[in-house]
Amino acid sequence: MVQAKTWILKQHFEGFPKDSDFELKTEQLSEPKDGEVLLEAVFLSVDPYMRPYSRVRMQAGDVMIGTQVAKVIQSNNPSFPVGCHVVGRGGWRTHTVSDGSELIKLLDDWPQDVSLSHALGAIGMPGLTALYGLEEVCAIKPGETLLVNAAAGAVGSVAGQIAKLKGCKVVGSAGSDEKVAYLKEMGFDQAFNYKTISSLEEALKNASPEGYDCYFENVGGPFSSVAIAQMKAFGRIAVCGGISLYNDTSPQTGPYPHLHMIFKQLKMEGFLVSRWEHKNKESLKRMLTWMQEGKLKCKEHVTVGFENMPAAFMGMLRGENIGKAIIKV
Ligand code: NDP
Repeated sequence: MVQAKTWILKQHFEGFPKDSDFELKTEQLSEPKDGEVLLEAVFLSVDPYMRPYSRVRMQAGDVMIGTQVAKVIQSNNPSFPVGCHVVGRGGWRTHTVSDGSELIKLLDDWPQDVSLSHALGAIGMPGLTALYGLEEVCAIKPGETLLVNAAAGAVGSVAGQIAKLKGCKVVGSAGSDEKVAYLKEMGFDQAFNYKTISSLEEALKNASPEGYDCYFENVGGPFSSVAIAQMKAFGRIAVCGGISLYNDTSPQTGPYPHLHMIFKQLKMEGFLVSRWEHKNKESLKRMLTWMQEGKLKCKEHVTVGFENMPAAFMGMLRGENIGKAIIKV
């Protein structure tokens, strides 16, 4: 019998998460039955969505939601033989018994020299989010100017690089000078540290005096109000996330965007990456090829040790990560 370590949401987060909101528990797993497999986590992901989704999808006492790259260590399911790797949605747990229905096998031709952890980052959900936000929501075209915030993170860094591959001018905003240097290293045309500038409006104007055709929105709040005013006529805004709002205990208010939206005839669309799930296989192959060709660079911020998952999650929300925040068991 296998024992799984799990991280439980002990109580719902109020404001910024704290250590006492989490509890490490041990669970006895039963032997996998017919059609089931036993999985061992290799890499786990901490993502911003866990914060807002914890409220709507979870109850106190539940295992924290999340995805992981896991190895099949026992199998009674021919689709998932022992030794194969999958992306599973078992949450924050070291071992999982699964009937396979929610498992996604890694691409068959996953290259030996690419870490499997990228299946949780650029060659996984965050990478797909970047791709679909640009292609499906913004319908970005060569020569256009893109603004992306949280630009040094998992989604933002891929979005900026894909836009460069498509022949666009890219402006990125991030929360440290080290992140800004990373954005420039990745080929962003302009990048700034939103925490140290004196005026966001001026920073956006300086970076692109002619304005922005597309805005990949990861942050929300006051940043958004200022950025919307800098859009060009018929600009498109892909509302991917609003991380500056996730820990709010009372709503923020700000200048409302209506007049800019009307006068500039802007289009603003929220989206979930799952809308284009039918395209995932082809999209992941495309991004893996870019990665192998050196066109897509993907940094990771790796925390070692399952016991450090809450710290890694809170660190990511605080902005400690450059690239994808990953936990190596
Ligand atoms: P990141 O790797 O970008 O990590 C989060 C980053 O957000 C931090 O590193 C930090 O960077 C930044 N941040 C935190 N707090 C603030 C704040 N108050 N103001 C501005 N920036 C802040 O995460 P992901 O790339 O995984 O996610 C990026 C966004 O995309 C999130 O909003 C997420 O919810 C959204 N998302 C949406 C999906 C969808 O289907 N719609 C799917 C996946 C992600 P910094 O140092 O720059 O502040």
